[in-house]
Amino acid sequence: MHGLLIAGKRPQGQGVIPVIEPATGASLDQVASAGPRDLDAAVAAAAAAFPAWSGLTAVARADVLFRFADLVRAHTEELAVLEARNAGKPIGDARWEANHVADTLRYYAGAADKFFGETIAVKKGGLDITLHEALGVVGLIVPWNFPMVIATWKLAPALACGNTVVLKPASLTPLSALRLGEIALEAGVPPGVLNVVPGPGALIGAALAAHADVAKISFTGETATGREIMRAAAATIKRISLELGGKSPNIIFADVDVDLVAAEAVGSVFANAGQDCCARSRVIVERPIYDRFVEAMAAAATAFRVGDPLAESTQMGPLISTHQRERAERYIEIGRSEGARLVCGGARLEGGGFFLRPAVFADARPGMRIVGEEIFGPVAVVLPFDTEAQAIALANDTIYGLSGSLWTNDLKRGLRVAQAVRTGVLSVNSSSSVHLQAPFGGYKQSGLGRELGMHAMAHYTEVKNIYFETT
Ligand code: NDP
Repeated sequence: MHGLLIAGKRPQGQGVIPVIEPATGASLDQVASAGPRDLDAAVAAAAAAFPAWSGLTAVARADVLFRFADLVRAHTEELAVLEARNAGKPIGDARWEANHVADTLRYYAGAADKFFGETIAVKKGGLDITLHEALGVVGLIVPWNFPMVIATWKLAPALACGNTVVLKPASLTPLSALRLGEIALEAGVPPGVLNVVPGPGALIGAALAAHADVAKISFTGETATGREIMRAAAATIKRISLELGGKSPNIIFADVDVDLVAAEAVGSVFANAGQDCCARSRVIVERPIYDRFVEAMAAAATAFRVGDPLAESTQMGPLISTHQRERAERYIEIGRSEGARLVCGGARLEGGGFFLRPAVFADARPGMRIVGEEIFGPVAVVLPFDTEAQAIALANDTIYGLSGSLWTNDLKRGLRVAQAVRTGVLSVNSSSSVHLQAPFGGYKQSGLGRELGMHAMAHYTEVKNIYFETT
């Protein structure tokens, strides 16, 4: 059994988390489950490590993080296989993610000595300067859909800025976080600077969010859990940043190449089996091409290769759990009963594992639950529109605002619509959601704050203003 990681040691916790392989439904491994005392010990270890780590020069911290990045790079195949097996990801995607983890560590190693303050010309004269100071112990709570990627989006800027970390991975996918913790130690990250405590969210995650010695929580997960975290953080006015749910629009104007964009639309909603907060799950198509587009999308979804995550040709693996598959199936039933037309998919694959064929609903309308609610599974809805204003209204008709795409060959229209859609990320003629160097995060109930790029550095620091009287 893998122990917790606290102060460089591997305590056995208060229980056991059985880790299941989604592609088979069989046991994959076992991990120690933290209890409240383990959590206190992890926070205490991070607090004890804080003065020395934050006291290093930024250049010295960068050196350690560059070594961490290089060591992750040397282990990308091992990490990719681990993530493919534990999270059910196609191996090609998992390889990209392992490399992205190394890239992210390199980016923030490079950023460590390039995030500095200002000299301000205040009315009184003298010298007024700002410093960006580390917060202290930060708690990172991450989900199961991109376990090591999302953990690294948080821990890399947190460590670069001089904070120390308590990382709580999702109970379904604790393996890659623990392995990253081991690699960090090997790379020379001092014991206690990065602690990893798998354990039940409602107990350990909630205790971390409420802990008096934790300065900040960075959370990714469900919007409902985000609300809980805000409540828990209120008692000590903890800093928080939240990446939450989404129901991202994909607006398709009639002037595009239908087959090409339909294939893109399928990839952008069914990658990671639809378990992606950025999944373009609401496809909004201009009326003249609507029928052709539905047909092309159904053909591309049917041809999408679902199967063994470790097979090189696989495009979509299983869902993460039997619970998540049943949730998607329930929404398929809801869609049918609401009168939407299922044009393909929705069936299980034979054998073990939590597989489900990608499902496309046509003739969906605003007000249907399958149009309004985040499904977090391989289910897309396609809605028609007649005017640009209607497309924008449909795209914005949601409590969420994380991501989205629009497709047109009319440059002016592309610029107009991109500005009118209320999302934190919007791609024109592209399915991209994430660029490591650019900010990522949500409007409305999709979250609070931005990850990635230099924006993330502000989230892991306080600004101190120092004034020198010189007369
Ligand atoms: P959860 O919000 O349930 O879990 C996310 C993490 O929070 C897990 O580590 C979980 O632990 C922990 N947790 C659960 N309850 C609490 C609590 N009360 N206090 C503190 N921590 C808690 O979401 P899922 O992991 O089930 O992910 C699915 C949902 O997350 C999707 O519906 C999607 O909307 C959203 N999501 C958003 C993303 C984004 O970037 N915007 C990315 C990924 C997911 P445990 O695993 O032990 O339950």
